Amino acid sequence: MLRRLIKRRWLVVLLGAATTLVVVLGMLWRSAIKRNRSVPDEPFRIAGNLYYVGPTGVTAFLLTGPEGHVLIDGGYPETAPLIMASIAKLGFDIKDVKVLLNSEPHPDHGGGLTVLQQASGAQLWASDASADSLASGGDDPDGVLPLRALIWIGVLGYPPPRVDHRFKDGDTIRVGPIALTAHVTGGHTRGCTSWSFSVRDGDRMLNVVSACDLGVLATSRYPEQGADRERSIRVLRGLPADIWVTCHARWWGRYRKFVASTTAKNPVDPFIDPEGYRAFIDAAEAELRQGRVH
Ligand SMILES: [Zn+2]
Repeated sequence: MLRRLIKRRWLVVLLGAATTLVVVLGMLWRSAIKRNRSVPDEPFRIAGNLYYVGPTGVTAFLLTGPEGHVLIDGGYPETAPLIMASIAKLGFDIKDVKVLLNSEPHPDHGGGLTVLQQASGAQLWASDASADSLASGGDDPDGVLPLRALIWIGVLGYPPPRVDHRFKDGDTIRVGPIALTAHVTGGHTRGCTSWSFSVRDGDRMLNVVSACDLGVLATSRYPEQGADRERSIRVLRGLPADIWVTCHARWWGRYRKFVASTTAKNPVDPFIDPEGYRAFIDAAEAELRQGRVH
């Protein structure tokens, strides 16, 4: 009897220690994220009515139009004020942002949407799977339990935005002359969404693809993930892309292209990179074949 009691007490102590460790690691991780990925950056025009308004790490893109603007991704909760400052610096008004879009609902891209929605009054559109995750403040139902627990207790999650509309794969979202086609390219998360649209540069029209993350996290797995990734790679390969971007700035060479654009004869030209787009997809396919996860 006594031995069983002692055993139980040890179990409680161990469980308590493990929980504390998970919480402390979560908090350290969160503050590292805050330090490293929310450094403000100069906003700039990529091409036509497409602007970069994100910080140095996680991206945000503004598409402007006469009847209102579209903003893709909100970064972390603490990124949102930086995005708003960038929009103002370019001479645009956050209140003219009518539509908010999201690539995927993890805290690095969905976290700032609530603040941005409150400041703009914009309507948030999301794919079915992303909508549920966004509306729960970043809970990924395919996430591992310790991560989900950190979201439930408020260490990793974010204040949930209001999802106003759900779209299906292939739907087009419009604000005046702006039209973006949604491609549900699952794999990183089930509802991961890529966007295709066109921008005008002088007398040429350029095809733009905002590709969702194609990598897989060890902390977020689901049974149909392999099939989803195969399909996503096929879908993205089929999209014409003169300009391409994705949700982490380094992956599409934001800084390198921006620096090149400051001295280029036509500042748009350094952003034209169909080879880089193909290389991004090739790398994702190689990861899939090798079974690599992050
Ligand atoms: Zn993610």
